[in-house]
Amino acid sequence: MALIVEKLPLGPLETNCFIVADSACNNCVVIDPAWDANKIIGVVENKGWNLQAIWLTHAHFDHFGALGGIMESYPDLPLGLHEMDLELYQAGGGAKTWGLPIDNSHQPTLWFDKTKTLYIGKYNFSILFVPGHSPGHVAFFQTDSNIIFGGDVLFQQGIGRTDLYGGNHTQLINSIQMHFLTLPNDTIVYPGHGSNTTISAEKQTNPYII
Ligand SMILES: [Zn+2]
Ligand SMILES: [Zn+2]
Repeated sequence: MALIVEKLPLGPLETNCFIVADSACNNCVVIDPAWDANKIIGVVENKGWNLQAIWLTHAHFDHFGALGGIMESYPDLPLGLHEMDLELYQAGGGAKTWGLPIDNSHQPTLWFDKTKTLYIGKYNFSILFVPGHSPGHVAFFQTDSNIIFGGDVLFQQGIGRTDLYGGNHTQLINSIQMHFLTLPNDTIVYPGHGSNTTISAEKQTNPYII
C-alpha cells in the first residue's frame, strides 16, 4: 500500500502534471492536467486507476491545457480551483499572450476556498492557500508521506514569477515563509516546473529565500 506519484512534464512550458494514486484502492487524482489529454488518460487507463477528480494549483493555462480533453472522456469529474483564481481561469489563464487556444468551458465544482481537506483513497491532503504567483494559488500537502504539490510557488533554486497578471512578490515570499518553510525539512516538493526538491535543500541553496 502506498501513495504513487506519476510525474509527466507536458506542453509548451513543460509543466509538470501529476497523477497521484492510492495503490490500495486504485483511486487517483490528476493535479494540473498540463497538456496532452490522451497521454494523461493513457497513463490512468494503463495503470487501471479510477480517476476521481482534477485539482488545479492555479489557473495559468499551461496547468489546465488538457482539461477539456479529459472532461470529454470523464464528463462528471469534479474540477477543483480556488475562487480567487476564477477570474484568471475565465480569462483563459494567459493563453492569449502565447497565441494558444485553450478550453476553459468547464466550470469548477470543487472550491478550494471552502474545502480544507481532500482525499485520494485513504490519504488526506491539506489545502494551503499560497497566493503571490496568482491570486488564488493553492498547494496540496500530504502529512503522512511528507509531500507537497506546490505548483508555481517554490522551485528548485527558484520561485514563481510575480510579473504576470495578479502577481505580488511580497505575498509570494510570505506564502513561502509561512506555508513551505514551516514544513518538515524532509518534505518533498513536487513543483509545477522542473525537478523535485526538498524543503531543507531550498532552505540551504535557494537564493531567493536565504
Ligand atoms: Zn503559473
Ligand atoms: Zn506554470
